[in-house]
Amino acid sequence: MPQITPTSKIVIVGSGVFGISTALWLARAGYTDVSVLDMQDTAAAGYDPLSGIDSASADLNKIVRFSYGAEIEYQRLATEAAGLWGEWNREVEGAEEGGGGEGRLWWNTGFLRMSASGELGAFEIETLRNMEKEGIREFQFVCDDDADIARAKERGWAHKLDPCRRQERFGSHKAVLDSTAGFVYAYKSCAWAQHLARREGVKMVLDPVRGKVVDIASGGDGRPVVATADGQEHVADLVVVAGGGWTPSLIPEVQDLLETTAGSVATVQIPRDRADLWERFAPENHPVISWGSREGKEVYSLPRDENGVFKIGWRKTKWTNFQDVRGNRISVPKTAHVTEEKETRIPLEALNGIKEYIALNFPELTPLGISSTRLCWYTDSIDNSFVVDFVPGRPGVAVCSGGSGYGFKFLPVLGREVVKILEGKGAETVYGRMWRWRGGGEDAGGEDGDGDGESGIDGRRNGLEEGEQGPRVLAKQKMAEVEDWKFT
Ligand SMILES: Cc1cc2nc3c(=O)[nH]c(=O)nc-3n(C[C@H](O)[C@H](O)[C@H](O)COP(=O)(O)OP(=O)(O)OC[C@H]3O[C@@H](n4cnc5c(N)ncnc54)[C@H](O)[C@@H]3O)c2cc1C
Repeated sequence: MPQITPTSKIVIVGSGVFGISTALWLARAGYTDVSVLDMQDTAAAGYDPLSGIDSASADLNKIVRFSYGAEIEYQRLATEAAGLWGEWNREVEGAEEGGGGEGRLWWNTGFLRMSASGELGAFEIETLRNMEKEGIREFQFVCDDDADIARAKERGWAHKLDPCRRQERFGSHKAVLDSTAGFVYAYKSCAWAQHLARREGVKMVLDPVRGKVVDIASGGDGRPVVATADGQEHVADLVVVAGGGWTPSLIPEVQDLLETTAGSVATVQIPRDRADLWERFAPENHPVISWGSREGKEVYSLPRDENGVFKIGWRKTKWTNFQDVRGNRISVPKTAHVTEEKETRIPLEALNGIKEYIALNFPELTPLGISSTRLCWYTDSIDNSFVVDFVPGRPGVAVCSGGSGYGFKFLPVLGREVVKILEGKGAETVYGRMWRWRGGGEDAGGEDGDGDGESGIDGRRNGLEEGEQGPRVLAKQKMAEVEDWKFT
């Protein structure tokens, strides 16, 4: 592990949440020579997926929740992030640069966890019990509990208890509204973080050739050398690989710890002239929703954005895409713009799950049909906890990844903990121990997706053990075509 000094040359690969937050906090900690390389011009495109940026962070919006059930360490970090999201909201609204003036980043819309079965699941009941113990139960409203309904009314949350009118339509509505949660505009948040990092002196090389890292080797003096696609070699004191879904292809050793997988996302375009729908799905009136978590449905949606885009995600299965990477078979992203092989479709199974969610819960949207689909590539870790540590056998090279479907919300604070690890103090910190390089078979206490604190693991390997033989391989799926977007 190198001892870094304030003038050490530090190169970060990737300007997503993990890379940009690390860069920001390194600069804040007094490191003066920090550069971020990215093969995508996230600055010019403002991280907007509609402008051709493909990454987990470059998305319309992401769910933010601060309650993590029994996972107290993530809960604490999320609570700290909450304070910083509030600060960023105040700063960004008054700012003229970095996307300032375009409205707030973080929206406390509430998060409704709806059962698909007519009963609250055991996990939900357990979560409520934990919240009781931690003194935060009062912010949760069980939607058919009279005392909770009365409290929701008092606190202005009653209109979000049953946005799908399930009680009226099905005679039963089993759900819990978490009034502390909501969502952030993801692309705007990353652009703001990048602006803050630049302001602190971080250099950015965001370019498909000059910023594209093709190799990370060890130089003659033992320092790492980063080769970029323009033929340049950058000798550094420390290289931090925060390449999201591309991390295992850059650092193949990490494939025992991390796997690149895709979640399935679709949108419905709500027309502005449909005033009824426009109002109903606005963040002021509509919460983030998850439906049927741990009941085999695993769907979530977020309120419409200012352009009327209503985003729905399906996370029951995360897809893999194995390719040859320098003699290894590694799952790598297959995206709409950046990768050699392009993909804008999602598997039909995922689309059908999303359509079922819409048809049952929002039948008034069915005439509009689906408007777009997208695969969004994560890095899942063996135990769903992040991986931030030095790579064994590679002096001066660290990885910073493994967001596993819930890393976004930590953007404002994540880098602070990463810096401690890069400074060699990982073993002394809670997060350093949780995110260390580790072997299989351990559960460091992470979660899967952002809906319900579902682990998806039982102390094993989170599906990584399946490999290319497993059923989640993208090439084995029937993909949904545009004709499938209509509801019949
Ligand atoms: C479908 C989906 C839903 C999610 N929902 C939520 C949610 O609701 N709430 C939440 O908190 N989190 C959520 N997450 C998780 C969150 O989005 C991720 O944890 C986080 O964005 C990961 O950031 P990252 O920096 O690791 O990777 P990325 O955002 O993928 O960034 C990686 C960057 O590295 C660059 N790069 C890669 N290879 C190279 C190279 N060779 N040279 C140069 N640059 C390179 C890429 O261009 C990219 O910009 C979700 C993720 C997905 C996929």
